Amino acid sequence: MIDLKKVVIKEKKVDTILTKSNLPIAGYSINPYVGCPFGCEYCYATFMKRFTGHKEDWGMFLDVKMWDKIKNPEKYKCKTMIVGSFNKAICWL
Ligand code: SF4
Repeated sequence: MIDLKKVVIKEKKVDTILTKSNLPIAGYSINPYVGCPFGCEYCYATFMKRFTGHKEDWGMFLDVKMWDKIKNPEKYKCKTMIVGSFNKAICWL
C-alpha cells in the first residue's frame, strides 16, 4: 500500500484543460491530473510519466493542473468530452 504522505503533489499551470481526442467516444479529453497515487501494476497510463520529468516511480507523484477560464466556450458547444482518460479522475471528485 502506498503511503500517501510520500506522494509528491504539485500544482502545474497549463494553457488549457481541453485536449483534442482521437478516442472514438469523445472529441475532447479533460485530464485534470497527471500521475496517480495508486500505482497499480497493470496501469495503462504509466507512459505518461515520460512527459512529466518526474524521477519518482509511477504512483509516487501527482501533478494537479491549474488553468484559466476557457476563453471561447462556444467552440465546445455540443462536443463530446471524456474526463479522466489518463487518470482516475473519478476517485478525486
Ligand atoms: S490511473 Fe488507474 S490504473 Fe493507473 S495507477 Fe491510477 S488507479 Fe491504477
